[in-house]
Amino acid sequence: MSDAREHIRIDELCLPVRRKAIKHIHIAVYPPDGRVLISAPLEKRPEVIRAFVLSRLGWIRDKQEAFRRQPRESAREYLTRETHYLWGRRYLLRVEEQAARPGIELRHDEIVLTVRPGSDRQCRERIMHEWHKRLLRAALPPLIRQWEAILDVTVNAFFVQRMKTRWGSCTPDRGYVRFNTELVKKPKDLLEYVVAHELCHLREPRHDERYYALLGRHYPRWRQARADLNALPVA
Ligand SMILES: [Zn+2]
Repeated sequence: MSDAREHIRIDELCLPVRRKAIKHIHIAVYPPDGRVLISAPLEKRPEVIRAFVLSRLGWIRDKQEAFRRQPRESAREYLTRETHYLWGRRYLLRVEEQAARPGIELRHDEIVLTVRPGSDRQCRERIMHEWHKRLLRAALPPLIRQWEAILDVTVNAFFVQRMKTRWGSCTPDRGYVRFNTELVKKPKDLLEYVVAHELCHLREPRHDERYYALLGRHYPRWRQARADLNALPVA
């Protein structure tokens, strides 16, 4: 973040302001740490923005508090008997050291990670992460096809990647959608919710009334799904 950026200071908070060609001031609070971003119309005077933010201060603090209370997944060491989640289910990890090609697979209620003797944490993590990407790349196409048909839209490409603050994103003019690798740990119906959410952006780019009307028409449970997704542990 550039220091040259405009900020609004209230008590201990120093909140960045992004100027945009919009009509109203908008405040967003992002997980995991409750980072705040204010979007404001180009011409709006700083005193007006400050008064608006002040009027929403209780809401901002509530949101930040909710993120702080959110359960966190502890850092993984990739050792035998460690708990790992997959599609909303808990599995125990079993690490097997073998002088063979590294691999990973599901065996009953265990995730079996085969590594060469002496492999370090980063190596194990990389195998797990690549596996997560493969699982998502396999799970997403049927859901994307289904929602392309429902919404009458076309996805030109989808990507699975690490994302810090969002479950997915969409670049409507290019027809690209991106999904957070962490989604592999959540129940599959929540993956479908993120697919529905992002594909709706191909028709309605912004989170405005039209967007939520479209999402609500085709995915009426979206509020519950969003709440469930955000209530689950984040990495
Ligand atoms: Zn969205």
